[in-house]
Amino acid sequence: MYIGGRWVDSVSRATYQARSPASGEMIATLPEGTREDAQRAIAAAREGTERLARLSVWERAKLCARVADVLERHKDELARTLTLDQGKPLHSEAKAEVDATVAGWRNAADHVKWLETSVIPVEDPHKRVLTIRQARGVYAVITPWNFPLNIPTEYLAPGLAAVNAMVWVPAPTTSVVAVKLVECLEEAEVPAGAINLVTGPGPVVGDEIVAHAGTDAVAFTGSSATGEHIARRAAGKPLLLELGGNGPTLILDDANLEQAANAAAFGAFFNAGQVCSAAERILVHRSVHDEVANRLVDHATHIQLGDPFDERTQMGPLNNQPVAEKTDRHLADALARGAKVLAGGSRARGWPTDLYYQPTVLTGVARDAMINREETFGPVAPLIPFQTDEEALAWANDSTLGLVSAVFTRDLSRAFWFAERLRTGIVNVNDSTNYWELHIPFGGVAGKRSGVGRLGGRHTLYEMTDLRTICLDVRRLDQG
Ligand code: NAD
Repeated sequence: MYIGGRWVDSVSRATYQARSPASGEMIATLPEGTREDAQRAIAAAREGTERLARLSVWERAKLCARVADVLERHKDELARTLTLDQGKPLHSEAKAEVDATVAGWRNAADHVKWLETSVIPVEDPHKRVLTIRQARGVYAVITPWNFPLNIPTEYLAPGLAAVNAMVWVPAPTTSVVAVKLVECLEEAEVPAGAINLVTGPGPVVGDEIVAHAGTDAVAFTGSSATGEHIARRAAGKPLLLELGGNGPTLILDDANLEQAANAAAFGAFFNAGQVCSAAERILVHRSVHDEVANRLVDHATHIQLGDPFDERTQMGPLNNQPVAEKTDRHLADALARGAKVLAGGSRARGWPTDLYYQPTVLTGVARDAMINREETFGPVAPLIPFQTDEEALAWANDSTLGLVSAVFTRDLSRAFWFAERLRTGIVNVNDSTNYWELHIPFGGVAGKRSGVGRLGGRHTLYEMTDLRTICLDVRRLDQG
């Protein structure tokens, strides 16, 4: 763990073993942090805020750019560690995540220079009222295992640029690559205490940093259930919550079917489906259902599953047993409710671990099936046929989650009709639910369980700062 600029063990000396999901091999021994370790990190972060406050905006921008340079120098090692720890294919996915991570640090360096605020016209002629953006202080940052470099960067880079010190608790199943990232931060000379890493179980070290009075705000990416628990534990603190999704993909009867099927396959199978914006259910017009189904089956049966280090591999293992078990449960439930398997349908055999899953296509999925109602997070493309636009909209919105949706049509009016009515934070027209760029606002719609606030570029800088209002009385008393 990295606390106050030093690498330390847990005060309890307890450790746990990290295993690669790809090979099952033990790849590292990590400290199992305790509440006391988390408290030490919070105290170190408080000191870190003072060191950070001495840096001007331009110096902080340079610091973020320096981190990006260091990451760039260690690109290969980071990508290999990411594949070893997380399981995603090195050549087709891990390298791209490292690139996004480098870009995330560069973005923070750029965007923080443009964090302009305002001078507000007021009624009183003697007053000048202006706003400035102020750091919040010590941030608790908790992240998941599906993008273990990029998601932390979404908070650590803008957080640092905006003068917040942070205590970061990564997911236990991808903490080896978290250590690599922090080694790069150290090499870039991020001030001691500015970013602290505590490894260990979320309900222990994560809970401590969320609930402790020494943290001022919380940034969390993870499941809806954990996010809601955290919101209660952090009561009163500013929250940025990026939670689960159940991304409906709507393919209308006038869609370009090649484009729609390619995008739906990418939505369902990228990162083995372990993406918050994944195409978790594919609502397809009855008249084009069979063609879309055939195209998806063609995709699923041609995906090269296997060793994530092999250049030919397009899909590696799932990251951990709970996500594989959830996928098993959702499949069994869908089949029990009448769905038919068109491709895949179970874990793949013959690999070093049982975390490899066959790319799966289902049809005839009942609307009350778990796979339609909840987030699956596995490589499954469930097809649900519909007849009318109204039906498709109602079914897409009939979910407790509302993160990203996609709609495929050649008709701009229909596209807008859906874009303004779908209850998700992001609507992609004629592209996959997974289309996304680092700086565009990303987050859940109000009233659903997909989160609170917006990530992305300057939006994260706004989220991770307070707006301070300064009212100046400028009357000249010397002139009577
Ligand atoms: P999770 O909720 O199980 O865990 C997320 C993190 O929270 C982990 O680091 C975990 O250790 C920690 N944690 C667990 N219990 C805790 C507690 N009681 N207190 C504090 N911390 C605790 O989620 P996961 O399985 O790691 O990640 C997958 C989920 O993340 C999916 O639901 C996915 O949709 C979501 N996600 C959302 C986005 C987004 O931007 N909206 C992006 C990626 C992933």
